[in-house]
Amino acid sequence: MTLPASFAPTEALLRAASPTLWLNPARQAQPEAVMPTSEGGHISLADTREAAARFARFAPLLAELSPELRARQGVIESELLSAPALQQALGLPPEHGALWIKGDHSLPVVGSIKARGGFHEVLQWAEALALEHGLITLDSDYRVLGQGPARALFARHQVAVGSTGNLGLSIGVLSAALGFQAVVHMSSDAKAWKKDRLRQRGVEVVEHGGDYEKAVAAGRQQAAANPLCHFVDDERSLSLLLGYSAAALHLGQQLQAQGVVVDAEHPLFVYLPCGVGGAPGGITFGLRQLLGPHVHCFFAEPVQSPCFMLQMMSPEGAHPSVYDIGLTNHTEADGLAVPRASLLAAELMRPLLSGVFTVRDDTLFEHLVQVLDHADQRIEPSAAAGFSGPQQLCGSAQGQAWLAEQGLLPHLPRATHLVWTTGGLLVPELEFSRFVQRGRQGLNATSA
Ligand SMILES: *Cc1c(COP(=O)(O)O)cnc(C)c1O
Repeated sequence: MTLPASFAPTEALLRAASPTLWLNPARQAQPEAVMPTSEGGHISLADTREAAARFARFAPLLAELSPELRARQGVIESELLSAPALQQALGLPPEHGALWIKGDHSLPVVGSIKARGGFHEVLQWAEALALEHGLITLDSDYRVLGQGPARALFARHQVAVGSTGNLGLSIGVLSAALGFQAVVHMSSDAKAWKKDRLRQRGVEVVEHGGDYEKAVAAGRQQAAANPLCHFVDDERSLSLLLGYSAAALHLGQQLQAQGVVVDAEHPLFVYLPCGVGGAPGGITFGLRQLLGPHVHCFFAEPVQSPCFMLQMMSPEGAHPSVYDIGLTNHTEADGLAVPRASLLAAELMRPLLSGVFTVRDDTLFEHLVQVLDHADQRIEPSAAAGFSGPQQLCGSAQGQAWLAEQGLLPHLPRATHLVWTTGGLLVPELEFSRFVQRGRQGLNATSA
């Protein structure tokens, strides 16, 4: 495994599991409007709009399937929150811009960002089956899919997925609600409460020894043997990615409604927790297509699982794992505990992404507590990964040099820093109190 010499300082920090920032030299201010994908296809903003339209077609049905979604007319969206008190607690000075939170930790039903991609892929498959069997046309009232003939059709089919937890929750819960047989392959390190919750909903949970990658491979193999099974492939799925990308359209409206301008004098920095890269990749794709060069997206990874940074630094054709550079892939951020990046996401991000940074687990817990105390939000450790982004970018010599080189330094006082919080709503009380305890110990030790 050899990385280009220009990345040597970053590589050394990566191998030492020290927090580090990597800035993408291949980023383009004006990339092509239509992006090639490793699967041989192309995607553009039109595909993102199509995903949003699919969510809209299904909204009336979703509202009928769950009381939680009825209150929201079937719309799966989250709040955009201003966070001045948290900004102060984190020590981000106002002359570096303003801190905001995109609250996907409280997305309904599954409590994580996976509601976006996971739901989209299940809905797309259900729609394709129903169209094929003549049960609907694209302008039907989709509530008919909650009735006898459609449910009988779905009951003959299976949806399967491999997951560390949250994707399984999202796919499993929606598949079961629509009447599909649902199978979730989980790694042995997946949290017990996530497995329990799925089993309560009638989802079959298959446990595999080993890490996330092994669970996905086992699931993929089992699904290939069943022609009536749709396997949601987290490492390769365009449908997942486009489901995530639809978030950009809604965020665009939210920013406008809040009077947050994004242009050359008002840059937008977005910090996204990254596992395989599908969720942050889809959102970055959507945001770059929608808002252009003045949005800068950064991915956040645990120091032991920096698979996306490693992939972005690697020469073409390489697909390294974090084990190759002596890391363990052990982290409390279970949503991000992934040893190898999605090639689809990595390829798509090459001209779009601004950078990637890594975070220690201890820092995740401290930020989780600060978010609770100063923004009154309950997030899980994975969802805290973005909060060290503004400091790593604006408070480091390396970040400052890059900001200067990009011509962004003079505009920093009018910048928006948007941290995407990706999960937390469903974490059980006992588990959450343990997170808080660990974070408070850390904070007390730092202030002592
Ligand atoms: C899955 C997940 C992510 C990252 O998504 P990827 O598509 O794996 O990059 C981030 N945060 C949480 C809480 C997640 O569950």
